Amino acid sequence: MRGALLRWYDREARDLPWRRTRDPYEIWISETMLQQTRVDTVIPYYERFLERFPTVESLADADADDLMEHWAGLGYYRRARNLRAAARQIVEHHHGDLPDEVDGLLSLPGVGRYTAGAVASIAFDRPAPIVDGNVARVFARFFGIRQDILAASVQARLWQEAETLARGRRPGDLNQAVMELGATICTPRAPECARCPLERRCNAHEAGDAAALPFKAARKAPKRVAAVAARITRNGRHLAARRPPGGLLGGLWELPGGELVSGETPEAAISRNLRERLGLTAKSCKTLGSVEQVFTHRHLELHVLRVETAGGRVRRREYDAHRWLSERGLNALPLSRIAQKAIALGR
Ligand code: SF4
Repeated sequence: MRGALLRWYDREARDLPWRRTRDPYEIWISETMLQQTRVDTVIPYYERFLERFPTVESLADADADDLMEHWAGLGYYRRARNLRAAARQIVEHHHGDLPDEVDGLLSLPGVGRYTAGAVASIAFDRPAPIVDGNVARVFARFFGIRQDILAASVQARLWQEAETLARGRRPGDLNQAVMELGATICTPRAPECARCPLERRCNAHEAGDAAALPFKAARKAPKRVAAVAARITRNGRHLAARRPPGGLLGGLWELPGGELVSGETPEAAISRNLRERLGLTAKSCKTLGSVEQVFTHRHLELHVLRVETAGGRVRRREYDAHRWLSERGLNALPLSRIAQKAIALGR
């Protein structure tokens, strides 16, 4: 498997920006961005992020809004907050150099088994395994694994196979070769076995069920949650509030609001949330529409209302900052995708 993969990789690997560097910091940033996000989405973010934060030190010193602004749109915002926390740890405890072994990397905030393996193997040539969605698919097909891919026993087997694979020469390239194969040839719906360097030994190809693998058992649908957001305008300026760090969408800006409690109408919920969280009294509300987003465990439906409030200063509770901004200023904030959609409704 190793020889076939490496020969194919040397010939066919896509030219991606993070493949032109051996700098551990740059590789770490790329691997963190690539978790849950597609390669073509990541490329412009990666380049912009490294221009703004070219070193571990610059990331450790990053201002929270500046950091979020360079991440907004990539989703899974905890990754950005963890990157900065890890950068601070690297500066404080490792003289600004990333640890070069899996165990040291795993001690950093936000670095899991995948990222540790990727950085250790790609940047430091360590025989460290990695398993992501692409690797899992290629292995399930190649080895003919037909049980639920997310079952603990199957995950253990996948990591074991990855560990065996990475024991060879050029572990970083071997790991990248499997991921590349999964991304370009052994794709979810239509694997192109005729172009695959593993075709002759592949279990699923021989059995004819490659497209049906990996098998995933049915899982619970994400929980539906309803929330409200208010478009409040005074003297041509719109109110935005920043969520406290931590938790879902922490550190990002939004139109202020909050969740509905059971039996509450959106109008009642916005009045209550504005009173409780910002000390504002709603005088009238008009529905602008609703937007939705599905997160890993939640399906969020956000009702957006234009709200007139009685005058009076904002007295913040729960939010950790607020600003009155022009439409342009509002859109320039680090916003989650659902906040962007909510703002677009009120234009
Ligand atoms: S032969 Fe087909 S199913 Fe097997 S690894 Fe290659 S592309 Fe995937």
